[in-house]
Amino acid sequence: MKAVVLLGPPGAGKGTVAEVLSEKGYRHVSTGDLLRAQIKEQTPLGLEAKALMEQGKFVPDNVVVGMIRDLISNTDGSANFLLDGFPRTLVQAQKLDELIASENGTIERVILLRCPDKVIVKRLSGRRSCPECGAVYHMLYNPPKNGEVCDNDATALIQRSDDKEETILNRLSVYAEQTAPLIGFYAEKGLVREVNADQSIADVRADVMEQLA
Ligand code: ADP
Ligand code: AMP
Repeated sequence: MKAVVLLGPPGAGKGTVAEVLSEKGYRHVSTGDLLRAQIKEQTPLGLEAKALMEQGKFVPDNVVVGMIRDLISNTDGSANFLLDGFPRTLVQAQKLDELIASENGTIERVILLRCPDKVIVKRLSGRRSCPECGAVYHMLYNPPKNGEVCDNDATALIQRSDDKEETILNRLSVYAEQTAPLIGFYAEKGLVREVNADQSIADVRADVMEQLA
């Protein structure tokens, strides 16, 4: 198996970029989406994660590593994973290395989406998503065609409960403390490719494709 890691602060556009890459044969795996699915189904894991996510805190490493372990071990060797929102801590990055080694796989690249905090606050406060298919919109920068319903399935779009300004600021500081150190971790392995995420969606997508070519 092969994996590409999408790294970058919340709101940098990881999910938005991943939407086009899944058309290129990558399997998009977002730990945030997996956790939100557990919340929707009201599983014990979902109930534990909900309170933490609403405060902008991380769920425990063993929980997300367990989800990724299940996915990787249930997939055949030819899978191409696009990891979005995982790993987010050094412990998760080390566990991912172990999981990938145990499957004789490789991390091909780490795409780092750089975006200033001011831009992120604007992006996250206007974000809307489809609870049915997971499509991501922005009311100003990438609006749905009709009102506030999904272009794909006409489901009413929702605003995530962790996209309030206060929680956004908390998530940015958690990113700086716990996730930003992964840049050095992967740079030492020569895997990091930087993309300026403070450009139009089309330009960011094109730059990411170029880094993966
Ligand atoms: P992440 O997955 O990194 O948290 P998203 O892909 O959900 O980020 O994007 C956050 C918000 O910003 C969404 O509302 C999305 O529509 C919008 N967005 C993403 N990329 C851009 C961009 N390049 N320019 C303007 N808005 C963007
Ligand atoms: P995201 O959809 O990637 O913005 O993630 C939303 C929230 O889910 C995060 O703020 C965390 O609370 C939680 N989460 C997602 N991925 C992880 C992870 N790899 N480690 C810990 N918490 C995570």
